[in-house]
Amino acid sequence: MPDHNQTAPGELEDVRRFINTWSIPNDTREATDALPGLARAPKVWHKEFPHRSLSRTDSLPRLQRLRDDLRSACQGEASSSEALNEWFNSAALGLKVRWVGGALQLDIEASEGSFVGYLVAIAAKAIASGEWTRLKTCPDCQWAFYDHTRNGSKRWCGMTKGGPDGRACGTIAKVTAYRAREARKDGVA
Ligand SMILES: [Zn+2]
Repeated sequence: MPDHNQTAPGELEDVRRFINTWSIPNDTREATDALPGLARAPKVWHKEFPHRSLSRTDSLPRLQRLRDDLRSACQGEASSSEALNEWFNSAALGLKVRWVGGALQLDIEASEGSFVGYLVAIAAKAIASGEWTRLKTCPDCQWAFYDHTRNGSKRWCGMTKGGPDGRACGTIAKVTAYRAREARKDGVA
C-alpha cells in the first residue's frame, strides 16, 4: 500500500497548510491564492489555522512574502537561506531552555506574537530537527507534502488536495516521459 499520508508532524502541519494556500487545483489547473479570502474572514481563518489568529502586523503582502519564501526553502532554492535569515531577524527569535524529565529542552520562540512569528519559529525548529528536509513541493502540481518514506526519497505528491480523487503526479510524469520516448521512436522510424 503506498503511503498517501502527506500531513506534517505537529505544528509543522500549519506551515504545510500555509504554503498550500497557494495551489494549482486539479480541475482548473490555474494557480489560486486562498490567502486574501482567508485573511478577510477570521472565522474561515480559524477553521484553517485554529492554533493562531492573525495580528495587526500580519498584513496580506507580508503573509504572501513569507509564503513565497517558505515555498522556496522547500524547493531548495539557494537564495532562500538569506530570506529565512531575514524572517528570523524580523520575528526576533529567541531561545529558551527548560527542564523536562531531568533533561534540558531547547525551544525556539518568536517575541513577535503574530502569525508570521509563530510560523517562522516553527520553521526554525523544523530546520534544527531535520524535519524540514521532508517538507517538499511536488515538481508537477506544486502541492506541499510531508515525506513519510523511510529514506526520504518521495518526489511527487502522489495525489493533490489530499483527496482520494486526486491525480497521481508521478504517474502522469512517467506516462508523459514514456509517450515522448515513443514519439521520438516514431519520428526516427
Ligand atoms: Zn503533484
